[in-house]
Amino acid sequence: MSQQRKKLVVGNWKLHGRLADNAVLLDAVAQAASRLPEQVKVGVCVPCPYLAQTQTLLAGSVVGWGSQDVSAHLQGAYTGEVAAEMVAEFGATFAIVGHSERRAYHRESADLVAIKAGRALTAGLTPIVCVGETLEQREAGTTEQVVGVQLDEVLARLSLEEAARIVVAYEPVWAIGTGKSATAAEAQAVHAFLRKLLVARGAEVGGVSVLYGGSVKPDNAEELFRQPDIDGGLIGGASLKAQDFLAICNAAAATL
Ligand code: PEP
Repeated sequence: MSQQRKKLVVGNWKLHGRLADNAVLLDAVAQAASRLPEQVKVGVCVPCPYLAQTQTLLAGSVVGWGSQDVSAHLQGAYTGEVAAEMVAEFGATFAIVGHSERRAYHRESADLVAIKAGRALTAGLTPIVCVGETLEQREAGTTEQVVGVQLDEVLARLSLEEAARIVVAYEPVWAIGTGKSATAAEAQAVHAFLRKLLVARGAEVGGVSVLYGGSVKPDNAEELFRQPDIDGGLIGGASLKAQDFLAICNAAAATL
């Protein structure tokens, strides 16, 4: 089934960036992406203050862009929140929701993440729904249970038509920013499980892209992306270095 799905590589800049640095990075990404086969799609999820700059610098390029979160609310007295509709106004197409850093540091529940995914879809954005287990949960043998509940909470709130428009990112918490990626076999096993859950919702939902995230680097990207149920990557640290991010995009192209 993965043969028919395109590869998708999305950078998550987290809380990084300055106008001058962003301009150099975005230019390099736009240029390199234009040379990739059209079956490889590239995106960057930037801090919200940089959405306008990103929209300007990526206009007309093949690179998509988006935010790293959206509010569960449409509008109102929610100081500091950014609505999905606001993000969409900048021409964005992606919004990460449920990143483990938000689940951990902002106590986001599975239910809240599901509401956010719905808000993103209603605004016309593709939510990149992150799921992943902690080291304790993996060692306790509960990985499938944890990621299964995280995904099911989101799917339960969406119509089949909406569910078919999400992207899932499997990001083991112990692999994020640690330099210790899951092995290709470990990642593939969880991706196969997630794929089974998606397929159980019907053919349309079964075709959803499932990305791997967690210390993806130029030297491990290709092996990860060659796994049958891994459709690309969500890239944190390495997305801030043009050379590394572009090498990871090229690794995706090499697997076609
Ligand atoms: C992430 O933040 O989504 C991520 C995968 O980070 P890193 O690539 O740095 O592990």
